[in-house]
Amino acid sequence: VLGRRAVLALLPLLLVATVAAQAGSGPASGGGDPFFPGAGNGGYDVRHYDVRLAYLPPRSLPGRGRLGPSTASIDAVATARLPSLSLDLVGLRVDRVEVDGRRARFRREGRELEVVPSAPIEAGARFETTVRYRGAPRPLTDPDGSEEGWLPGHSGGAVAVGEPIGTATWLPCNNEPSDKATFSLRIAVPERGLGRRLRAVSNGRLAGVDRRGRRAVWHWVASRPMATYLATVAIGDFRVEKRRAGGVPAWFAIDAGLLRRGPATRSLLRRGIRAVGPALRFFGRLYGRYPFEAAGTTVVDGPGAKLEYALETQTRPTFPGPPRRSLIVHELAHQWFGNSVTPRIWPDIWLNEGFATYSEWLFRERHGGPSARSVFAKLRRRPPSERFWNPPPGRVPGPRELFAGSVYVRGAMTLEALRLEVGDGIFFGILRGWAQRNRYGNVSTAEFAEFAERRAGRQLDALFDRWLLEPGKPGGGAGAGAPARVAARR
Ligand SMILES: [Zn+2]
Repeated sequence: VLGRRAVLALLPLLLVATVAAQAGSGPASGGGDPFFPGAGNGGYDVRHYDVRLAYLPPRSLPGRGRLGPSTASIDAVATARLPSLSLDLVGLRVDRVEVDGRRARFRREGRELEVVPSAPIEAGARFETTVRYRGAPRPLTDPDGSEEGWLPGHSGGAVAVGEPIGTATWLPCNNEPSDKATFSLRIAVPERGLGRRLRAVSNGRLAGVDRRGRRAVWHWVASRPMATYLATVAIGDFRVEKRRAGGVPAWFAIDAGLLRRGPATRSLLRRGIRAVGPALRFFGRLYGRYPFEAAGTTVVDGPGAKLEYALETQTRPTFPGPPRRSLIVHELAHQWFGNSVTPRIWPDIWLNEGFATYSEWLFRERHGGPSARSVFAKLRRRPPSERFWNPPPGRVPGPRELFAGSVYVRGAMTLEALRLEVGDGIFFGILRGWAQRNRYGNVSTAEFAEFAERRAGRQLDALFDRWLLEPGKPGGGAGAGAPARVAARR
């Protein structure tokens, strides 16, 4: 099947990653992702992050806020005997590390925090690493030129988005998509900073707000497994409203600056928010029950916040301004495909973006828009010079092309091609079965191809090869066309 070939194609990269990991600073540092060999760590499996951030706004604007004394307690299980272990952390100052309450030695090297517990941790043992840290988190510039990580907000706040590796700019973590964990995030903010009200938003449900003097601690709990890249923090002058959407408790955080901008912006925001419930119900019917305990959206005030794209942060997607309905639909579809069912490695990103883009087509098809079939047919007629044909979505050459338009458009076309091949009954069974069988898990392209073949009862090699691997327009001449531009959504 396709899988074997795809894996073979990746082998040289995997070898490079292994060598890099061996040559790396700490034992078991580097999770071995072909695109981000330095991120992630072997030797343990995180179960839960208990995070307490103390946010201090800048003294004047423009300026960036800081983290005062903060802690992250990482509850994990050792998968090997660990004389030492590594966490991913970019910048910041580490004051102290403890393992199971005992002081541990630590060392910083590049983006690694290497921890040496007072005694080796035995394989199979559950252990807790507590990191005390502080400092001014900084954004990361990705290979495609986009910014992620901890981005300063325009009014003294901040927004943290972490796809693919930005979460390590504010949280010591095992930063690879295959190590999912539950999260508790307490974010302490002054009630007012620079004359503005400050509130803190994160993933999951709001467990409470503890007001002490001039500070408030916002406590958010994500009780279903979450990959670190989907963790978020947004601090700013937000209006936070709780209501139900699609039968799920939902928190909507909207930057007050947007609400002051006049009736046109407010009506855009209302329309966007009104789309959340119907979209959750629609995908629930199609793909199975909504996988998480909470929903909602965070809408930040774009330009000043430096956020230039929307992201499917778990349970509560983040938008850089009032989102259009198609964007809401895209990021909500990711809650099933991407957040609940997550690629094990980044080269399989089309399993996120192709599925979310195809979900937009399905939503439009069933809500008075053109059918997915006609969208596909129209795209199919476009010339080989069109940018969205390259790179083939199953053969993304490197991290610079992670969010290339082809991953989205040709990824979605792959699914329509599959639907045309196997028929609606089998096709929708495949999508639903894939979401259900892999709930909260990690997957690969090879596994998807095998799953589809089993459901269809026949080989589909030719179809997947053609749509996922063939360079240039499938059947339209190899290698033609410039690579797609970077998408404005994730
Ligand atoms: Zn997306």
